[in-house]
Amino acid sequence: MQQSRLLQMQLPGHRLRCLACARRCVIEQGRRGFCRVRTNEDGALVAANYGRVVTGHIDVIEKKPAYHYRPGSKLLSIGTVGCNWSCDFCVNAEVSQADEVIGKRLSPTDVIQLAKQYGCQGIAYTYNEPLVLIEFARDIGILAHREGLFNVVVSNGYGTPEAVGVLSEFADCIIVGLKANASPSFLKKHLGIRSPNSIFETLLGLKRRAGIHIEINDLILGRNFELAIAIALTAFASMPMVAVSTVVGPLIEIPVMLAIVWMALRRRNHLQVIEVEAKSAQKVGKGGIC
Ligand code: SF4
Repeated sequence: MQQSRLLQMQLPGHRLRCLACARRCVIEQGRRGFCRVRTNEDGALVAANYGRVVTGHIDVIEKKPAYHYRPGSKLLSIGTVGCNWSCDFCVNAEVSQADEVIGKRLSPTDVIQLAKQYGCQGIAYTYNEPLVLIEFARDIGILAHREGLFNVVVSNGYGTPEAVGVLSEFADCIIVGLKANASPSFLKKHLGIRSPNSIFETLLGLKRRAGIHIEINDLILGRNFELAIAIALTAFASMPMVAVSTVVGPLIEIPVMLAIVWMALRRRNHLQVIEVEAKSAQKVGKGGIC
């Protein structure tokens, strides 16, 4: 477990506000936030999923998917339990919506050693939302840089300015996964998110940070495609920073990829299945390492 002083705001009555994502949960003492992994322990924000890796695989960067950053690179992709969203079509629901913190105990040094052992050039924080494990990702990411590895963050982008600050300490490439063009009606119906504004503010915050490569992966779910919103999104992604902010950032465009999939019903919370899968991955030893 790891305390997070950077991403918490102290409130009266031993309550605190978590600043890791745009939900900005107010957490009572002894309780946990929406993501189920960030808890209030005696007035301190603790990430219970710190160092608990539930999924680990070796894959190429195009699988994240990123097509404009170090093509062909091999990555160690890791994830923990917990997510700040609750998509009713999530394919990783057993991990993202787990009620209990599980996973192999790995320190940041262990993760780096595994990446090097498997000949990876980078680490990807993926499978579940990296914002809910941001302290663990940052500790790994800083070590990764010292060892000549790079960091890829695959996020829903539902962040805060404070989280953008922490991401900028270690992220080299960030892939923001939108759902249905971030259509407000879709987000409200399927994710319970009232507005996509925080996603676009996070994208702008990241874009202002020189040196971070950004790509948008827009997941089109079945027929949930609105041409007008998609056009607005690509216009946003190609807008020079000087046009959207008084802060002059890099004049780069953000590649946008559209991926079309069909929604499936979420399978709820099969913790045992995940543990069995993790063990068989270790036994097979091809890519799976947990
Ligand atoms: S990271 Fe978790 S606890 Fe923190 S604001 Fe988001 S959902 Fe709430």
